Amino acid sequence: MEPQQRSPLLEVKGNIELKRALAKAPSRLPLPGSRLKRGPDQMEEDLEPEKKRTRGLGTKVATSRPRATALTTVPQTQGQTAVPKVPRKTGPPCSTAIATVLKNQKPGPAVPAQKPGTTAAPPVVGRKKPSKRPAWDLKGQLCDLNAELKCCRERTQMLDQENQQLRNQLREAQQQATALGTERRTLEEELARVRAQAEQGQQELGNLSTLVLELEERLGTQEGLVQELQKEQLELQEERRGLAAQLEEQERRLQASEAALSGSQAEVASLRQEAAAQADLLANREERLHGLEMERRRLHNQLQELKGNVRVFCRVRPVLPGESTPPPGFLLFPSGPSGPSDPPTRLSLSRSDERRGTLSGAPAAPTRHDFSFDRVFPPGSGQDEVFEEISMLVQSALDGYPVCIFAYGQTGSGKTFTMEGGPGGDPQVEGLIPRALRHLFSVAQELSGQGWTYSFVASYVEIYNETVRDLLATGTRKGHGGECEIRRAGPGSEELTVTNARYVPVSCEREVEALLHLARQNRAVARTAQNERSSRSHSVFQLQISGEHAGRGLQCVAPLSLVDLAGSERLDPGLALGPGERERLRETQAINSSLSTLGLVIMALSNKESHVPYRNSKLTYLLQNSLGGSAKMLMFVNISPLEENVSESLNSLRFASKVNQCVIGTAQANRK
Ligand code: ADP
Ligand code: MG
Repeated sequence: MEPQQRSPLLEVKGNIELKRALAKAPSRLPLPGSRLKRGPDQMEEDLEPEKKRTRGLGTKVATSRPRATALTTVPQTQGQTAVPKVPRKTGPPCSTAIATVLKNQKPGPAVPAQKPGTTAAPPVVGRKKPSKRPAWDLKGQLCDLNAELKCCRERTQMLDQENQQLRNQLREAQQQATALGTERRTLEEELARVRAQAEQGQQELGNLSTLVLELEERLGTQEGLVQELQKEQLELQEERRGLAAQLEEQERRLQASEAALSGSQAEVASLRQEAAAQADLLANREERLHGLEMERRRLHNQLQELKGNVRVFCRVRPVLPGESTPPPGFLLFPSGPSGPSDPPTRLSLSRSDERRGTLSGAPAAPTRHDFSFDRVFPPGSGQDEVFEEISMLVQSALDGYPVCIFAYGQTGSGKTFTMEGGPGGDPQVEGLIPRALRHLFSVAQELSGQGWTYSFVASYVEIYNETVRDLLATGTRKGHGGECEIRRAGPGSEELTVTNARYVPVSCEREVEALLHLARQNRAVARTAQNERSSRSHSVFQLQISGEHAGRGLQCVAPLSLVDLAGSERLDPGLALGPGERERLRETQAINSSLSTLGLVIMALSNKESHVPYRNSKLTYLLQNSLGGSAKMLMFVNISPLEENVSESLNSLRFASKVNQCVIGTAQANRK
C-alpha cells in the first residue's frame, strides 16, 4: 500500500493536509434552520414502535450510535459523493483528526456507494420519499421501517468496519508516534551531542586560536633568534676562516719545530752524555772538596792551637763623657816587633806610688806594669774589629770544637758592651753574641752546599750568689724565674742541662735579637727587685750546635758559650760594714770565689791535674764541657781607662796574665 511506504514525517504532513482539507471542505451538513420534511421528533415518533419492539438491537445501536436520530437525517442532507472519503485508511493518525472525521461523517450516507448491488439500501438522496402511508397501512409502514432498519444495520456494519480501520490506523499512528518520539529523542540527544561537540569544537577553536597567537609570537621570537644565529654563524664562519689560517700557520711552525726538535733531541742526547760525564766529574770534585774541607778543618784547628787553646785579649774601653781624662802615659800600647802595622799585643800601665814620693821628698817615678796578651784592643777599637779577631774561633764550634768566650773585668769596664753590645740597637755597636750567631748562620748556610745540615738551640742563664736563673723565662716566671739546677742530660751522659730553663731553637738573627731583648727585660725586672744585680752575676749564653752530613754519616756537636762575668772588683776591707755592705760583701765573696775557681780550673787543666775542681762553683760546673779537653777558650779582660780604677785594672790584668800562661792540651773535635 502506498501510504504505508511513506516516511512517518511525510505521513504526519499528509494527515495535517488532510485535516486542513477536511476543515476547509464545505459542510454538507444541513444548515441550521433548514427545514426538514420530517423533523426529528416526528422521526422519533415514527421509530418509537420499532424501538419498543427491538429494544435489544436499539440498545446496541445506541451504544455505537449515540445519536441515532442524527443518522436518520444524514441521508436527506448528504449526497453519496461524500461517502468514499470516509473510509480513507490513510487518515490522520491522531485521535483529534479521527474525531473530526467522525464528526464530519456523522451526517454521511448510511450505505456506502461501493456496494451498488445492494438493492435493499438505496441511497437516501435522490430516493423518492415514500408518501405518507395512511394510519391503517400498518403493513406498509412496517415494510418501510424494516427497510430503514436494514439500511441502518448495513450502515452500522460499515461504520464498525470503518471504526476498526480507524482504530488500526490509530494504532499504527501511535506506533509511528512512539517511533517518531524515540527518533526525536535520539535526534535530540544527537542534537545535544552535536551541540556539545560544537561547543567543545568552539572552545578548542578558541584554544587553538590562542595557541596560534602564542605560536606566532614564538615564531616571531624564533625568527629573531634565527636571524641572530645566522649573524653569529656568519661571524663564526669568518672566525673559523681566520682560525684555519692560523692553524695552517701553526702547522707550518709545528713542522719547523719538529724538525728543530729532532735536531735538539740529538743535541740533548749528546748533552746528556756530557752531563753524565760532568756528574762523574762533579762527584770526584765533591769528594775532593770534602777532603779539602776536612783538611781545612784540620789546618784551621792547628792554627787555632798554634794561637793557643787558651787565649786572652785585653780591651780597654774609651773614656766616657763626664769622666776625668787619665794623665798622659797612664796607659800605653807599645807596637809589636814589626812596628805600628802589627796588631798591638802589649799594654803598659803606669802607677804613681804616692808614699814613695813623700819619703824621698820628690815625686817618685810612676811604676810601669807591662802586660802581653794574644791581642790588645785600645780604646778606639770597634766591635767589628774585635769580632774579626774571634770569628775564626767561633767557626771552630761549627767544626765540632767546644768554644768558650769570657768577658772579665771590674764593673763598668765594658764587659756587657763587648758581649751583647752598646745601647740603642745600633748595628755598629752590636756585641759578640749577635755577631757570632750571624756568622755561624751564614757559614752553616755555606756548608749546606757541601751536604752539612746544622741546627742551633740557645739558652741564657744568670748565676747570682750560686743560684741559677733563666733569663729567657716568659709568662709568670718572667723576671723571677724558678729555681734552676744544673743536671746531666741523662744517665751516663756528658751533656749538662739546666732544669726549668728554656732551650730555644734559633735559625736567624731576628730570633737571637728577640732572645737578647727578653734577657735584658728579665735582668731589668730583677734589678728593681734586688738593686743592680746584673753586675754581680754571671750571664751565660750557650748555643748548642749540631751538624750532620747525612751523605757521609758524619755528625758534630759542640757548645758555644759566651759568658759576661760578674764584676771582679774587691771590697775595700778598711770600710766600715753596715747591713747593706755585709750583703754586698757576701755577694762579692761569692763572685770572687767563683772567679778564683774559674782560674783554678784553668790552671788545673793547664797543669793536666787529675782533679779539676769544676764543681766548686756553679759557673765552672755549667761550663764543664766548654773548658778543657778539646775546648778552645778566649778571655777578654776589660779594662777601665780611668786612673781611679788603676788598682782593679792591675788585678784584672794579673789574673788575665795567669790565664794567658795556660796551655790546655791538644784540642780534639767532638766527632761521632
Ligand atoms: P760592664 O758590663 O763591665 O759593667 P758596661 O759594658 O756596662 O760595663 O760598660 C759601661 C759603660 O761603658 C757603658 O755605658 C758602655 O756603653 C760603655 N762602654 C763600654 N765599653 C765601651 C766601648 N768599647 N766603646 C764605647 N763605650 C763603651
Ligand atoms: Mg755588665
